[in-house]
Amino acid sequence: MSAPTINSIQIGRLHNKNAIVTGAAGGIGLETSILFAKEGANVLMADISGPALEKALAKLKQVVPSHHKVETQVSDVSKEADVKALVDHLDAWGGVDIMFNNAGIMHADDADAVDTPEKIWDLTQAINVKGVWFGSKHAVLSLRKHKKTKGSIINTASVVALVGSATPQLAYTASKGAVLAMTRELAIVHAREGFRFNALCPAPLNTPLLQDWLGDDQPKRHRREVHFPSGRFGEAIEQARAVLFLASDDASYINGQDFVVDGGMTKAYVTPE
Ligand code: NAD
Repeated sequence: MSAPTINSIQIGRLHNKNAIVTGAAGGIGLETSILFAKEGANVLMADISGPALEKALAKLKQVVPSHHKVETQVSDVSKEADVKALVDHLDAWGGVDIMFNNAGIMHADDADAVDTPEKIWDLTQAINVKGVWFGSKHAVLSLRKHKKTKGSIINTASVVALVGSATPQLAYTASKGAVLAMTRELAIVHAREGFRFNALCPAPLNTPLLQDWLGDDQPKRHRREVHFPSGRFGEAIEQARAVLFLASDDASYINGQDFVVDGGMTKAYVTPE
């Protein structure tokens, strides 16, 4: 599809759209914020870590022209007041068009049914599930308040919501399954309002969330790499491109999907040597 133009000047795929990205200081969140801004969106980058957010903003500014509106706000997605404040901030911009509920944790103490501490279970659900609910809820309220006839909400799940893993992180896996189920239902409930909800299912990536945890442990790395048909971890930018598509009107008839971006991992039985 050719890029849209105004008076033959090329405009971005998210021209004049207002977007919120949570977990914006992390791998997927930053790459997505950059792509959104490059494609003409106004972007509010949100993260629980203020210093990380400032670093992320500095990186974005190196690659995106300065006339774009990009702001940051510290926010803990497990707190409804924080999420509401994010959405309220966009009232002055004309309300939310795109909400990327992407913040998530995979805790180092998350384990199997026997060894996962209850407080890690609760923390994981509070951020990964309740955070997505709050983001979806306040996005819907904003879309209605500003009388929008379309909106795109993308919620980050994971391939572990689709395939079982013998390297368990039970709280994380359960939380991502909840994101898929919740997203599907939201998609159906709000379809007639023009609000689309899709879940992104990334495979294991080259971002701090996983790579810090794997460290230099080669057997632990190999355990995962062998399952990739491509033989490599995914990159955050490869997720961001999919999120851009789901956020844009190019995806106008895509709703309620488990959108899998995994290099074929969940379709593989035996992978190439
Ligand atoms: P990341 O750790 O690089 O980024 C996550 C960001 O979320 C961090 O900047 C962190 O500060 C922020 N965050 C944590 N708790 C928060 C909270 N309560 N409120 C607001 N922000 C908070 O990780 P990433 O790889 O970019 O992960 C983004 C999403 O992708 C997560 O939901 C993750 O579960 C999911 N995912 C990641 C992988 C992977 O291998 N990296 C695979 C599948 C799914």
